[in-house]
Amino acid sequence: METVRNFQKELDKLLDGMVERQEAGKRLFLHSCCAPCSSYVLEYIRTYFRITVFYYNPNISFETEYQKRVAEQKRLINAYNAQETGYPIDIVEGDYEPQRFYDIAKGLEGCPEGGERCFLCYELRLRRTAELAKAGGYDYFCTTLSISPLKNAKKLNEIGERLAEEYQVSWLASDFKKKNGYKRSIELSTQHQLYRQDYCGCVYSKEERERTKQKNDTGVIKTEC
Ligand code: SF4
Repeated sequence: METVRNFQKELDKLLDGMVERQEAGKRLFLHSCCAPCSSYVLEYIRTYFRITVFYYNPNISFETEYQKRVAEQKRLINAYNAQETGYPIDIVEGDYEPQRFYDIAKGLEGCPEGGERCFLCYELRLRRTAELAKAGGYDYFCTTLSISPLKNAKKLNEIGERLAEEYQVSWLASDFKKKNGYKRSIELSTQHQLYRQDYCGCVYSKEERERTKQKNDTGVIKTEC
């Protein structure tokens, strides 16, 4: 029988061990999808790690939306750095290269959110994160994505661990939605008046959200994969 891992407990164990061994301050290259999702993650782990946020999201449609999200990410980091309650947080903005997303999504345009297209989308972003974490000599890499109830933490950790092997840089096992992480991210978003988008990021998720809104009128949602 397959053992069900608790990634949140694994993270807490690692953090406790770091405290015991007085190892705080290791360098973490943290992929972030948006300011709201990163709000709780940064609050939670910035006292343990020197974090560089990596904003790399070629999946986002359209460019105006991308610019809006990245601006909010920078604004949040500035606000956190002004608080001085943990290590200062840096940010690296990756290239906005939507064609790379469309290439991996080809043939999977009709997948509902949470399906195969999303797994490839996770990998696209995590692979670039792992590459740069390796190149920059970071101790760990990770992503904020697992905070969303719509994101598959098992899959994210599976991909992260595979890339950790490939790039020889440690993956930080995590499931940030646990311990009320998602709820806290909503509170922090309100506190910092962050822009919260109502769709995941790609044009297909935007269309899916539109259909969900319309469902209230028609009673039916059609998705295919
Ligand atoms: S729904 Fe979100 S995770 Fe899935 S492919 Fe679109 S942007 Fe990526």
